[in-house]
Amino acid sequence: MAGVGIIVVFDFDKTIIECDSDEWVLEALGATHLFNQLRPTMPWNRLMDTMMTELHSQGKTIEDIAECLKSIPLHPRLVAAIKSAYALGCELRIVSDANVFFIETILKHHGLFDCFSEINTNPSFIEEDGKLRIFPFHDFSVSSHGCSTFDLCPPNMCKGRIMERILVSLETKKRIIYLGDGKGDYCPCLKLGEGDLVMPRKDFPLWDLIACNPGVVKAEVHGWSYGEDQERNLLQLVNRILLEEENRSSQQMLSAECKLQTTVPIPAAQEALPQALRVSH
Ligand SMILES: [Mg+2]
Ligand SMILES: [Zn+2]
Repeated sequence: MAGVGIIVVFDFDKTIIECDSDEWVLEALGATHLFNQLRPTMPWNRLMDTMMTELHSQGKTIEDIAECLKSIPLHPRLVAAIKSAYALGCELRIVSDANVFFIETILKHHGLFDCFSEINTNPSFIEEDGKLRIFPFHDFSVSSHGCSTFDLCPPNMCKGRIMERILVSLETKKRIIYLGDGKGDYCPCLKLGEGDLVMPRKDFPLWDLIACNPGVVKAEVHGWSYGEDQERNLLQLVNRILLEEENRSSQQMLSAECKLQTTVPIPAAQEALPQALRVSH
């Protein structure tokens, strides 16, 4: 059987985890005040790199940061939803303005890392002295990513550009489901078409942007609130798409058979319909 053809693209902060990982780590390690002081002086991504150097000079180790990350709450229903979507054959990807170290540490801690086929985020690495360095996804000191969608995309990352790359890399048509919360998630949603689905977190910036610009996002929109509601909505949509795609492929088979051999009894062909996968709640 061919792949089911669904790609679920997740934002990370406030979508997979309930909070923002940068804010959580800064708060837990007592660096929020300094971060707020420096915030007007440089872009967020560069400031996070600066803050990691600052924490290192204060004696905070990479293990301290990892322990912070592991303590971030991740709703058990969302963990279950990710595992179910993966088990149903969806391809799962992340597009996030956090960084590789934060995301990998959290996903591995919750046993989810292997569910994802691709993580698009800011690169990071640990220097020999144990200092965590964070770099921009797009090196904007060399060239801009060139997107000016309502000035919503930060200089280091345009998620719309990443979505374009995902879409052109597909060899066969896939249905995309995009889950996000922030204003940076609006640009990729503009790249999606009819048949795709956008799941904005209710009453967060992405939700407001979609509501304020009716008709601009071509994909179907389904809101969610973090946790149980998010699991239920995601799995309902996945099951609905699976059913639609099964029906479509069986109709194509049926019409192909009718052309070849008009005597094929239609009920027999209908009995051959594969069962749609269902998830009980
Ligand atoms: Mg987010
Ligand atoms: Zn953009």
